[in-house]
Amino acid sequence: MSEAIPAVALRHVGKSYQRGGQQIEVLTDIDFDIATGDFLALMGPSGSGKSTLLNLLAGIDKPTAGQIIVAGTDIASLDEGELADWRARHVGFIFQFYNLMPVLTALENVELPLMLTRLNRRERREHAELALQMVGLADRMSHYPNELSGGQQQRVAIARALVSDPTLIVADEPTGDLDRKSAGEILDLLDRLNGELGKTIVMVTHDARAAERAHAIRHLEKGELSALEINRQEAQP
Ligand code: ADP
Ligand code: MG
Repeated sequence: MSEAIPAVALRHVGKSYQRGGQQIEVLTDIDFDIATGDFLALMGPSGSGKSTLLNLLAGIDKPTAGQIIVAGTDIASLDEGELADWRARHVGFIFQFYNLMPVLTALENVELPLMLTRLNRRERREHAELALQMVGLADRMSHYPNELSGGQQQRVAIARALVSDPTLIVADEPTGDLDRKSAGEILDLLDRLNGELGKTIVMVTHDARAAERAHAIRHLEKGELSALEINRQEAQP
């Protein structure tokens, strides 16, 4: 069944950058699956390659060694258009600093990813309204980002990540800029997206309290990934 199909599989993945004639090896022989429906936290010190790894498994970046298999296909064999298409349909992104467009309202920000789809104007609006209701911001739709708190802005960003109904949600330090209460609300939301909507979630964080909310944790250090630490066993359907 679908549980057996990994959302993303990484096979001996390496990533290095060229810098002034020097090769910087960021990731070495990363090999693991992200199961469909999983909620994984990725931890590690600053500069350990967490964002690099997240971008690889979301198909934003390509590895310099090994394979990344999404939807049963090695992304190396996809051209830019096919990869962009896969991303648009299957991946939602959440960033530390929300990355909302300041000149657009909450509703317009959430509608933005739907511009790439075939939905018409009315359908786009309906989907965006639904996503904002889901994150508890039905009463803030016409607000601009600078009229919202950090926690509210991140909820708009979650609605934007959610609106195209992706299978995979990647979050890079989603609570890194928030106070504890707002961070808790964001983690509650991620928990619901995973538990109620079945979204596969990979969350980068260096906050142990945030990581505890995931099903399992992996640590990245010196380019290598630790074994899986299970936080809690999910009830099997
Ligand atoms: P983290 O998210 O864990 O803080 P990153 O994935 O952002 O770490 O970065 C890991 C390492 O890769 C760092 O040493 C960083 O300087 C390097 N790096 C990241 N992106 C690039 C790039 N585009 N060019 C060169 N080096 C990079
Ligand atoms: Mg980072």
